[in-house]
Amino acid sequence: MWIFKRVADIQSFLQKRTSKNEKIGFVPTMGALHEGHTSLIKKSKSECDITVGSVFVNPTQFNDKKDLDKYPRTIENDVIALINAGCDLLFLPDVSDIYPEPSVKKYALGTLETVYEGSSRPGHFQGGCQVVDRLFEIVKPDAVFCGQKDYQQCMVISRLIDITPGFENIEMNIVPTTREENGLAMSSRNMRLSDGQRANAATIYQTLIYLKEHLAQGDLSNILKSAYEKLVEAGFKPDYVSIADAKTLQSVENWDGGTPLVALIAAFLEEVRLIDNMVLTD
Ligand code: AMP
Repeated sequence: MWIFKRVADIQSFLQKRTSKNEKIGFVPTMGALHEGHTSLIKKSKSECDITVGSVFVNPTQFNDKKDLDKYPRTIENDVIALINAGCDLLFLPDVSDIYPEPSVKKYALGTLETVYEGSSRPGHFQGGCQVVDRLFEIVKPDAVFCGQKDYQQCMVISRLIDITPGFENIEMNIVPTTREENGLAMSSRNMRLSDGQRANAATIYQTLIYLKEHLAQGDLSNILKSAYEKLVEAGFKPDYVSIADAKTLQSVENWDGGTPLVALIAAFLEEVRLIDNMVLTD
């Protein structure tokens, strides 16, 4: 696996590959890699000629400096995981490579950035767009691979592709969430859970299944209330438990039986905040 730290170096390397018409697949990450991340690399490998992974802990998407400082950094293990997954090239920039000057761009994300993760983490999606915009400019991928685990983030990146001149040909691939055997969505934050908490954390997945199994046309408030209670009984402090239009992410309280839906949960187990989602309709 090639490892590049400097923008000019990766660009001149990739230019040679694009001139041979090779399809470049890109998997942006913040490191602390697990099987969820490597599933994206493998998917890209299966569809592209060259797979580029990046590891960059993006400061502009953290509204809480303590969260940024606490973010796990495991680069040696990440390199091994990427090699084992067959990644061709790792881009490992410093903050000064990505932001030679502070980014002042603002992205027209509409209500996508004010609901759910956007409302709990103000500025998070603007920061996410700043880094993905910059990474796309550098890597110039033909395809990007993102995890459904971060459903709202996938929608934001799709929007970024739609609204940014030059990005319109980037193909967006949403890869299903990789889960532990008990259903817990893999996440770098799971490292902060004890064994007992990890077992308990699967309640989020069970709650999503409950919502899927009990979905029926009409008022959704009762199933949402039961879902909330399930999480509280299991020791969670829910941030949100919601059902939304799968395309617009506007919350749906009364279902017409046809609109595609997604259930979204964010909940704290002690101080660890976990998120997960499930598409409820076929
Ligand atoms: P992160 O490093 O957390 O920013 O994530 C990098 C990419 O990996 C994002 O597209 C995530 O959605 C994706 N990802 C994280 N966890 C999982 C998972 N459990 N299954 C599939 N993709 C994931």
